Amino acid sequence: MLSRMQPPFSQDLERRLRDPLGCTQSGESKVNLENAIKYFSPKSPMLNDAPGTTGDRLAISDVMAAFGLTEAQARFGFELFLSKHGITSSEGAVAMLTDYGMTQAPHCRALAALDETVRRDLVKLFSLFAYEDYTRSAASKRPCSCCSGTGFVEAEIFTTKSHMPYRERHFVKASVKMGVKNFSPADYEQTRAVREVERVLCSSCGGKGTISNACRCRGRGTVLDEYQSKVQGVPVTKTCSKCTGRGYARLPGEAVRRAAGLTVMAISEPTWRRGFKPFYEMLITQCHREEAQADALLKKVTGKVNI
Ligand SMILES: [Zn+2]
Ligand SMILES: [Zn+2]
Repeated sequence: MLSRMQPPFSQDLERRLRDPLGCTQSGESKVNLENAIKYFSPKSPMLNDAPGTTGDRLAISDVMAAFGLTEAQARFGFELFLSKHGITSSEGAVAMLTDYGMTQAPHCRALAALDETVRRDLVKLFSLFAYEDYTRSAASKRPCSCCSGTGFVEAEIFTTKSHMPYRERHFVKASVKMGVKNFSPADYEQTRAVREVERVLCSSCGGKGTISNACRCRGRGTVLDEYQSKVQGVPVTKTCSKCTGRGYARLPGEAVRRAAGLTVMAISEPTWRRGFKPFYEMLITQCHREEAQADALLKKVTGKVNI
């Protein structure tokens, strides 16, 4: 990996990687993983293709060298991050997570007791779900399940159609002309209910076809504490109780247990809770940890260079 990305700048990057002081520089000026996305966008205005360091900015070759280094040393985290943002497919990341899970499976008593093939299938399934949970953030969206992503649903609606029968028409006209008291033409109309199937906007997603994973706190993780605000007279916030501060809806663990029952083996609720759930949660934590590591490494590698 590295040899492909060698000179002119990578030795310098390597030096910085070894220099722990590089990470004491101000955070905004470094490439971190969130900033890294724009290097994959063809519209990026930040790049210049001059070789080596040019002033404060990173040249594209430097960025690629930094990515190469990061990828070599924090491959898993980098892969996770790239697939989370749709730059690479999720297969590689899930496979890596599965491999990691298999190395940890012997430490989980419930998994260790299983047959090799069943264990692998379970770890694979857990990895898939753990990855799915990891990629959920307040900014991410999931396809709407009501309309399967189309934004429209077919609804049966009854409309009332009315018409004035030919025979009554003259009579009604004449009555209106003469100004008969308490005369209502509607009394002579004939109505019928018509059943129609219409495509209407899906009410769950408002026609967008996707639903945001953000919590009702709009991803902030905090909500206004109405009681305390009233008592103290200033706006007071508290941690959102629905998402416990994460800001987004998590994938329910119960869904994983049920999926396991359908595809690999039935797991009872207590067994899941005590035996498998901690392992599953560990896989999710590992994803976040690996990403944080890759992020820290990328910051260190790019040092004090502004982008
Ligand atoms: Zn919908
Ligand atoms: Zn919330």
